[in-house]
Amino acid sequence: MQITLPQKPIALMLSGGFDSAVLLYLLCKSGAKQISCFTIDHMNSAYYAGLVVDHIQEMFPDVNIGHEILEKVSDNMMQIINYGYGSVSRQGYFLFDAATRNPTLEDLPDLPHSRPPRAENYPRKLMDCPFLEITKAEVIAIAHHYGILDGIAAITHSCTETTAERCGECWQCLERKVSFAKNNFVDVGFF
Ligand SMILES: [Zn+2]
Repeated sequence: MQITLPQKPIALMLSGGFDSAVLLYLLCKSGAKQISCFTIDHMNSAYYAGLVVDHIQEMFPDVNIGHEILEKVSDNMMQIINYGYGSVSRQGYFLFDAATRNPTLEDLPDLPHSRPPRAENYPRKLMDCPFLEITKAEVIAIAHHYGILDGIAAITHSCTETTAERCGECWQCLERKVSFAKNNFVDVGFF
């Protein structure tokens, strides 16, 4: 999967979860020379995002990957996300975000208490969400295709309710679970 790179400096919202880690990999693979990653520190996400940066940096030693932590300002997930976008976009970056399409109702009947942001809400010349029309199951398949599935699964934390391991009940936990199951892959992540 080739990502079209903008002329502007690239920023990526890196959550410490699975999808944004795969997007960081794809940006590097697509030829980005410098990527500024931003993480809003929520439920220890800065720690996991740090592991992701180290992991991908090892694969692409020639890419200059920066990592900045944004202080959490709210307990409301949408407020946190909007704060992150605002903070980063004001700095003049072209922003990438790994928001995916939701699973189908059949795969995950409990849709959704928190829906990912829609790129349609943002000017396309300033921001891109390359995974917006595909599901997490398809992102997992992409990771498998490039041989990075277990490496990324092992260090990423998708749960929004715990700082470590998984609650097993939140929307993100369930989405990750059904998405691995749909591919018949085992999720080696234990966080
Ligand atoms: Zn959870």
